Amino acid sequence: MSVFKYEKDADGIVTVTMDQTGPVNAMNTEYQLAMAETVARIEQEAALSGVIFASAKKTFFAGGDLNDLLAAKPGDEASFMETLEAIKGPLRRLEKLPVPVVAAINGTALGGGFEICLACNYRIAFNHKSVQLGLPEVSLGLLPGGGGVVRMVNLLGLQAALPYLLEGMKVVPEKALAAGMIHETVQSLEELLPRAKAYIKANAGNVAAAIQPWDQSGFKIPGGNASSPKLAQLLMAAPAMLAAKTRGLLPAPEQILDCAVEAARVDFDTALRIESRGLTYLVMTPQAKNMITTFFFQMNEINGGASRPQGIAPQLTKKVGVLGAGMMGQGIAYVSAMAGIDVVLKDISLDAAERGKAYTEKLLAKRVAKGRMSADEKAKILARIMPSAENDDLDGCDLIIEAVFENVELKNKIIRATEKHLDDDGIWGSNTSTLPITQLALASSRPANFIGIHFFSPVDKMPLVEIICGEQTSDTALAKAFDYARQIRKTPIVVNDSLGFFTSRTFGTYFDEGARLVVEGMHPSKIDSLGKAIGMPVGPLTVHDEVSQELSRKAFETWEQMGVADKWGEQDSLRTVIEFLTVKNGRGGRHHNGGYYDYVDGGKTLWPGVLDEYYCSNAQVPDDDIKDRLLFRQVIETLKCLESGVLRTVADGNIGSVMGIGAPVWTGGFLQFVNTYGLEKFQRRCAELADKYGDRFSCPSIVGEKILEGSMFR
Ligand code: NAD
Repeated sequence: MSVFKYEKDADGIVTVTMDQTGPVNAMNTEYQLAMAETVARIEQEAALSGVIFASAKKTFFAGGDLNDLLAAKPGDEASFMETLEAIKGPLRRLEKLPVPVVAAINGTALGGGFEICLACNYRIAFNHKSVQLGLPEVSLGLLPGGGGVVRMVNLLGLQAALPYLLEGMKVVPEKALAAGMIHETVQSLEELLPRAKAYIKANAGNVAAAIQPWDQSGFKIPGGNASSPKLAQLLMAAPAMLAAKTRGLLPAPEQILDCAVEAARVDFDTALRIESRGLTYLVMTPQAKNMITTFFFQMNEINGGASRPQGIAPQLTKKVGVLGAGMMGQGIAYVSAMAGIDVVLKDISLDAAERGKAYTEKLLAKRVAKGRMSADEKAKILARIMPSAENDDLDGCDLIIEAVFENVELKNKIIRATEKHLDDDGIWGSNTSTLPITQLALASSRPANFIGIHFFSPVDKMPLVEIICGEQTSDTALAKAFDYARQIRKTPIVVNDSLGFFTSRTFGTYFDEGARLVVEGMHPSKIDSLGKAIGMPVGPLTVHDEVSQELSRKAFETWEQMGVADKWGEQDSLRTVIEFLTVKNGRGGRHHNGGYYDYVDGGKTLWPGVLDEYYCSNAQVPDDDIKDRLLFRQVIETLKCLESGVLRTVADGNIGSVMGIGAPVWTGGFLQFVNTYGLEKFQRRCAELADKYGDRFSCPSIVGEKILEGSMFR
């Protein structure tokens, strides 16, 4: 029996209900067979009045089979292209049937799923916020190769289609309707099939309803074809704008733009073939392998709870105490209240706590102004946050998160003062950026319930939480922190204790290598622009100005006090430069009188003092070496974290590096980078860099071990 259920009713309407093996429908071999068979059968059907494509799954259709895409390797181009054409053929035949074909979209249809919908003459979707429509292939380094690029361009016009294709925008049915991507919505699932049938009946004999716009004679692409003067400016500017955005590091958007323009230039069927060629090229690139591995497979692993201890019942947080209503505390209060959790936001004075709560008020007011939230809902969320200056208000909290100054004595003091207010099984989390959790836990009378919950700034935007287990942290405490992170809709990575954990420690090497290049006499602007050239969001010097050198100086002091300084990395140059900036020149970073740069009128200029002190016009380090130094330092530190057990899984290292540190997306994270760079080649390049620039580039032995095993970082 086919996995596509085939039913013909008395009115001559065939309903095809897709119900593949497993939880979702996907474009794999099983689909290919079922679709080819189904289309052939429909073509033979006598007294046919229309066709409906429906789904028996919760999602309409999940898209391409990413396992197949990951497995395709250079040399397989011809067979891959053949498979693609075999997928596209039946879709083209479907849209050429002499009767209307309707997509009855009951749930999310992304990628290949939406491409099936696009090959139907009429698209009706269930109007629900859980239903997402769109073509997000670009976010995995791919292009919509099932006709998505070509049909979207023909449907919406080049200009309107580009954001959906280049940015992979996903939209709810209401928005898709407004954009012209679908034709109709229904308010309940029960209405879906009856509406589809009603549409077919209402259009019996209407020839136009059975022909796609692009197959009708005299069809013109909305907004004109590629030679239209109206598009001349777009076509001239788009490649440059795209290159500025991707910095030439991401082949997928370039291919998509190329295919989209071709779709507006050549005939429909030729365009489909160009699109197949585009996907065939992309699927073999290391960037696509990296992005699929990390952003799909490893992300699912992490959000699915692979790093959560098994066998512990879900731990719902009901009341959280947030200590410190500064930059981080106010953000933590906001995300917690948004997730329906009661919050006690405590600072040293009620005034300070109320200022912290005002942050939530400000963010919610913006939502209300944009029509994304009702005034009632806003009031309800605000009412969940109780500002306070009293420890007694923490009574009954099942979670406390500390976000006071990065000062070990202060943290110790408040641990002792507040711990007793927790529920019996309550856990106490520190949002410290660097301080070892095991050592902080010495001040706790219940170290098993003590854990690190490290947020990133700004808390409301940054999607990651780094959970740090101290030596005595229990599995239950970890499960509770993990579930809390999911409750506030963040992605949690779980790491073991170390100074700077995984993210701060690895990011520190980026600052350090930047500072070393300054000390070696390189021009600061060049260092920053080469940092961006590898795909980091900002250069190492600019980002250190943002984080603040003053904070780093204080951190060094604290580490010395705790006896943990210099436990990793080599930071002598960084210390020298920080001392030069902060102690000698009173420059502690962007918000502390400037750092490497001066900040005036919203812009920044290089501070001449740094040039006078360090710049040497004769200094020569090849650009490629600068780029690799900035990248490899971070990759090597990540490998060391894996080798020493700070990182518990490769997935945590990849997701943590992209979402917490800003590792370039094309790498798929700092560990995945090594896989596609090639382990042996990585070892060789490390040796070259170590030879020229020092031992910090020595390749961690875990790479050699993987080579011997014949495996990779998975
Ligand atoms: P902040 O200076 O903005 O806020 C600290 C707040 O703590 C202040 O409002 C202060 O009044 C309050 N406070 C001090 N003593 C207190 C006490 N005894 N009880 C209650 N409140 C008290 O600092 P921040 O940037 O929010 O950082 C807080 C913590 O988060 C630090 O440990 C920091 O390392 C960590 N962190 C910061 C970032 C970041 O990007 N800023 C990122 C991750 C982690």
